[in-house]
Amino acid sequence: MSNKVILVIMDGAGYEASVSQCGYLEGAVELGQAKRWKMITATPSLSGPMYETIHTGLWPHEHGIVSNEGMRLSSSPNIFSLARAAGKTTAAVAQSYYHALYVNQPWDRLRSVEHHDADTDIQHARFYSMEGYGATNAMAPAEIDLCAQMTILAEAHDPDYLLLHTCAADTLGHTFGGDSAEYRWQVWMIDNALSRAIPTWRELGYEIIVTADHGMNAERHHGGMEKIMREVPFYYFGDATDLPSDGTELTQLGIASTVLGRMGVAPATGMRPALF
Ligand SMILES: [Zn+2]
Repeated sequence: MSNKVILVIMDGAGYEASVSQCGYLEGAVELGQAKRWKMITATPSLSGPMYETIHTGLWPHEHGIVSNEGMRLSSSPNIFSLARAAGKTTAAVAQSYYHALYVNQPWDRLRSVEHHDADTDIQHARFYSMEGYGATNAMAPAEIDLCAQMTILAEAHDPDYLLLHTCAADTLGHTFGGDSAEYRWQVWMIDNALSRAIPTWRELGYEIIVTADHGMNAERHHGGMEKIMREVPFYYFGDATDLPSDGTELTQLGIASTVLGRMGVAPATGMRPALF
């Protein structure tokens, strides 16, 4: 089995917000074009640690990225490194934290936003920095523009693994709170962009997973154990059979082995088992 996989990480988009706002994704589930489960994140439910958990199948305590203030090059086998070692092509449209984790080079403010180097674990990428990010300056790229960059990378390089990381729902959640109209609107904006991108990516031959790193509470925060922080959606568009039954709560630790398995790449020792 050797499928191409796109993984979409909707930063900060919790389960309830996604299920209530993502009419395209939920419609695909109702039609039988996709499946959706509730997924429980590892902890601390923070972005950097969860990016690495999603890619390594390990808890933060095991992979060592336990805080957004402690970002560094990944020291564990991960989806990017294992795919590259297996001769696969990797690519990403993502925030610069992913450059810190999976590109073994210093960040160059004037060059790293477009990255092409077959000798790095992310081989092709469009990165964004969010420099100046804050409550009065959201610095959030439009999801439809990020989707366009994904399509450009897919058509130019035909990567076997292609990551999309969107950031705006997290930003709006930190600014207005997880129960705000602004946050819910932004979660829907991701769905609205994906409604136009997913059919194109399916035509390009990709299986697609859509999930989130963590949720967001009303106090504009995440990082702890609250359900609203740890419950995220997991959507799957693809041909896998033997799927978990409806209503099963999935673990975020299973994403890495699942993505690798769909590509026909063996997981690393210690990675939690595949979800299907
Ligand atoms: Zn956040």
